[in-house]
Amino acid sequence: MTIKGAYWNCRFCRGAGCISCSTQREKCEARMKDRMPEPIFTADRNDPEDMAALGRIFGGDAIREASEAGAFGFAENITQRAAMEGIKQLLRKHVIYEPSDKPECEK
Ligand SMILES: [Zn+2]
Repeated sequence: MTIKGAYWNCRFCRGAGCISCSTQREKCEARMKDRMPEPIFTADRNDPEDMAALGRIFGGDAIREASEAGAFGFAENITQRAAMEGIKQLLRKHVIYEPSDKPECEK
């Protein structure tokens, strides 16, 4: 039996439950936060362009094309699609073009 809120890797009680469990859990989460890799693509379900990008990564056509790459190529193909959509999303959401950036002919 374990006490509610017990932390399985607590150095004091080894998961049985004690007053240090929450502190131990917070310390572990803080350490792990720095080690976690960033996702290559994340989608906001309220953003139609994100959802369209998700379709280009995991949609029927994407899966069909990735399947043609074989068992080992499948994951690589999907990963490359996600990476490309992540880059496009980054440009779309975070790079703001000022009117002065337009080519001379469009001013
Ligand atoms: Zn504990």
